[in-house]
Amino acid sequence: MDRYVRQILAIGEDGQEKLMESKVLVVGAGGLGSVVVTYLASAGIGKIGIVDGDVVEEHNLQRQFIHVGNVGKNKAVSAMEFVERLNPDVEVEVYPFNLNERNVQIVKNYDVIALCADNFETRLIVNDFCVRNDIPFVHGAVYSFEGEVTTVLGSPCYRCLYSSFPKQEGGEQPIMGFTCGVAGSIQCAEVVKILLGMETLKGRLLRFDLRSMEFFEVEYQPKCPLCKKKLD
Ligand SMILES: [Zn+2]
Repeated sequence: MDRYVRQILAIGEDGQEKLMESKVLVVGAGGLGSVVVTYLASAGIGKIGIVDGDVVEEHNLQRQFIHVGNVGKNKAVSAMEFVERLNPDVEVEVYPFNLNERNVQIVKNYDVIALCADNFETRLIVNDFCVRNDIPFVHGAVYSFEGEVTTVLGSPCYRCLYSSFPKQEGGEQPIMGFTCGVAGSIQCAEVVKILLGMETLKGRLLRFDLRSMEFFEVEYQPKCPLCKKKLD
C-alpha cells in the first residue's frame, strides 16, 4: 500500500481497496488512452482491459507517449508492456483488435468503460451496448486545442448530444499532445469517481478550448430514440 499513501489521504483506505477490486476497459490506446491508461494504472485499478487494433507509428509519439520504443507493435500490446513497467500490481487484459458489433460484448466484463476512440462508429457501438446493458462509460474527444468529456450512466447518452453523426471523421486530424493530457485526465477522474460513487458529469458535457482557456458545460437531456425507448 506504500505506493498509494498520498492517494489514500484523498480517498481513504476503503476507496483504495475499491479501486484495487475494480475492472476498467480502455477503448483505444491512442492520445486519450495513453493518458487514461497511465493514471488508471498509477492509481492501482485492479484490472485494466485495453482494446486497440492499430499499430504504433512514429507520428503517434507526439502524444501517445506510452508507446515509446514500440513503433511497429500493436498498441494494446504496447500499452500492456507500459503498464507492467509502471505498476506490476495491475492485471492487464489485451484485446488487439478494434471493437465492432460482434465483439463489443467484452465490455460486459468491466465495471466502467473509458471510451477513448477517435471515431463516431466505435463511440456509437459502445454507447448503444452500454446504454442497453447499464454499463457506465466516460466519453472523451479532442481536436486541435479543444476537447470534450461527458459521463454516461444509463440516460442521457452520447446519442442525445448530437442529432446526427458524420460517416467518418476522415484522415489526419490536427491535435496538440497536451489537449489529450487535459481531456484524458478529466476522463480518468470521472472513471475513478464512478468507481467511488462520487458525483460525475452525467447529463453534462464539459468542453474546453486551450487557446482561450475557456472551460464550459452544456447540460443535455434524454432525447435520442434509444433513451426514449428505455425510459418509456
Ligand atoms: Zn440517448
